[in-house]
Amino acid sequence: MTYAIDGWFAHSPEDGARLLGTRCTACGTVCFPPRRGSCPNPRCPGTDMEVLPLPRRGRVWSYTNACYPPPAPYVAAEPYEPVTLAAVELDEVGLVVLGQVKGLTVDQLEVGMELELTSGPLADGPLVWMWGRAS
Ligand SMILES: [Zn+2]
Repeated sequence: MTYAIDGWFAHSPEDGARLLGTRCTACGTVCFPPRRGSCPNPRCPGTDMEVLPLPRRGRVWSYTNACYPPPAPYVAAEPYEPVTLAAVELDEVGLVVLGQVKGLTVDQLEVGMELELTSGPLADGPLVWMWGRAS
């Protein structure tokens, strides 16, 4: 299985898709995408960031659709099919993570709706995280 971005998420049959953030061992600040070597908190001198699998559920913060293909290096399906995008505020940590939405259109989404992390292939094959209907 090839991931669209190495180290940003993982998928296993047991746990499903999980985003991989990092947490500062000095102050506890959680961030996504994962980072190494420095804490994003400007008041913290911490340099040790540990990998933290993030909550799989969250609530829609905003959403839209993309009716035309993004520019390269994105590889669009031919013919291009519009995709739904959602920014989802993760439970517990409160980070907002953008992703493609699987199986739902903008007409079926609303702010505050619960979604669950899943994954799916991009047009050129690699696996990426996506948002889907909460089970
Ligand atoms: Zn810190």
